[in-house]
Amino acid sequence: MKYKIYGKTEKKVSAIGMGGMRFNMEKPLQESAELLHYALEKGINYFDTAPQYHEGKSEEIFGIAFKQMPRDNFFVSTKLMPERITNADDAYEKVCLSLEKMHVDHIDFFHVWCIRKMEHYFDAMRQDGLYEALLRAKDEGLINHIVFSSHQQGDEVQKIIQSGVFEGVLLGVNILNFPYRWDGVLAAQHQGMGVVAMNPLAGGLIPQNEDKLRFLTSEGETPTEAALRFLVGCPEITVALNGFSCEEHIDMACEVAENARPFSEEELNRVKSNLTDSTINICTACGYCDTCPKDIPILKYMQLYNNRVLFDISEEKMIEDMAFQHEWGLLGEDNSWADACIACGRCERSCTQHLPIITRLKDIAKWEAASKKPLKV
Ligand code: SF4
Ligand code: SF4
Repeated sequence: MKYKIYGKTEKKVSAIGMGGMRFNMEKPLQESAELLHYALEKGINYFDTAPQYHEGKSEEIFGIAFKQMPRDNFFVSTKLMPERITNADDAYEKVCLSLEKMHVDHIDFFHVWCIRKMEHYFDAMRQDGLYEALLRAKDEGLINHIVFSSHQQGDEVQKIIQSGVFEGVLLGVNILNFPYRWDGVLAAQHQGMGVVAMNPLAGGLIPQNEDKLRFLTSEGETPTEAALRFLVGCPEITVALNGFSCEEHIDMACEVAENARPFSEEELNRVKSNLTDSTINICTACGYCDTCPKDIPILKYMQLYNNRVLFDISEEKMIEDMAFQHEWGLLGEDNSWADACIACGRCERSCTQHLPIITRLKDIAKWEAASKKPLKV
């Protein structure tokens, strides 16, 4: 395993981190906890979770695992959203609850979670707010480092970084969107912050579309391996965070980390020349939009729309795909179709990627209407 120093904290963290958001839902918690032991054996020492991951069970899984892991051998990170607390006392209690669930006496990296716009940052920093509670927890030794996670781009994330109140940042950066997110990465590095990359495989989009993403690769590697090598090889990135659901995925990521050769300038230019503006406008399957009053399966629709955005799939093909997805695929069990959207805007307000969901649903509704005929076999 390759290790890097997390910003100015002097913590030596593994270049591959394990995120607790993609455990197999079918498996018992104990079995998922064993994956953390496996990851630790493989050299991974950075474990990241949040109270809401894995339907609220992720911190519990971490706690089961941590009971049998020497505390000095790993770093734990968790999070709290500014909008999910009422005041500093409430936030402090939630920090204590995370400690209790994970059976640890301190949290190494605590994130002000999911800053999607400046209001969230101002909310976190208000008097009697989240940051105040985190400072108190830090003074008492319950937290070592206060950091933040953001899905913003450009100027705004730089402003937060330059405020100097955080020691690290978790950013959604990967090989498909890096030209559009790199300003934030460089600003964080300049400030001496650790930079953790979430969504290294673009929410599963890279492994699912390997045949169309060959331009990412060199020397016989797969696009998935290239995406991980890119992040591990970047000196600006401290940890590439992966949501593992099985040992094979851990093996693959660790193997890449062992041999990670940084991308050469030629490789980077090749990748950049194949990327377009559309690569930042993709759904990363984070699930934050799952609050639709009409029960529209937004995440599934936006994942299908990714193909249109990334690979310029024709309308005709999208119509065929809609028919297929309703008959056999992703949408087979959903009764609420895209035309049920009442444009209330709730999903767009929570979308981490600021996607025009309502407009995309209008396109999808059109394709769905055209697809309501028997599939040609
Ligand atoms: S805008 Fe449409 S899809 Fe989004 S939450 Fe409202 S009804 Fe659901
Ligand atoms: S539409 Fe936006 S909020 Fe919903 S899953 Fe995709 S990226 Fe996340």
